[in-house]
Amino acid sequence: MPGCAADEAVRDDQLMQRFDSVGCDLVMGTAVRATIISHERWGVMAQVIGHETVGASVDAGVIDSPSGSPQARPEEYPPVGGQVDAVVQEINRYHPPAWIRLTMRAANLREFSWTCGCCGQLTILSPGGDGVTVDVRSSEGPGCASFAAHRSCLAGRLNPDFDGDRARVKAVGRDQPPPPAIGIGNQSPR
Ligand SMILES: [Zn+2]
Repeated sequence: MPGCAADEAVRDDQLMQRFDSVGCDLVMGTAVRATIISHERWGVMAQVIGHETVGASVDAGVIDSPSGSPQARPEEYPPVGGQVDAVVQEINRYHPPAWIRLTMRAANLREFSWTCGCCGQLTILSPGGDGVTVDVRSSEGPGCASFAAHRSCLAGRLNPDFDGDRARVKAVGRDQPPPPAIGIGNQSPR
């Protein structure tokens, strides 16, 4: 039935429009807690606490191996049902479904770096580092292309006339507005 097909198309479109907004409150380099869901040959499936609707996984290559192997062996994975500290290594929103890749390497928990899309050198994405995540989206359709970049590299690529944009690239996340005053005047604290 044409009507039903049209309805279906609208619903599909709405679903497609939403998938890249999932997990938008996570950024590469964010420290999280995650629950281990299952053991797989290639690593573990996980659930990020507070983001249980988004799929997540940790490759064996970014799980420390107590025996010194380059990647953790299945018997070295953290137990199913256990909680671990992890860092967001990648959030793939290019194709649905959105997917979070985590790293559990102790070195990454201390400091997480990724290659800068401008200069090709490593940039630190942990808080206090010199890097940012660039999310690229289009009005033509859903999906988000992401890459990491040094703040300075990205600002340097912008037209020198765009002073405001360059300043914001260097300050975003650091330049926090003051928290709203609570309990002052007529504003309700909630
Ligand atoms: Zn760079």
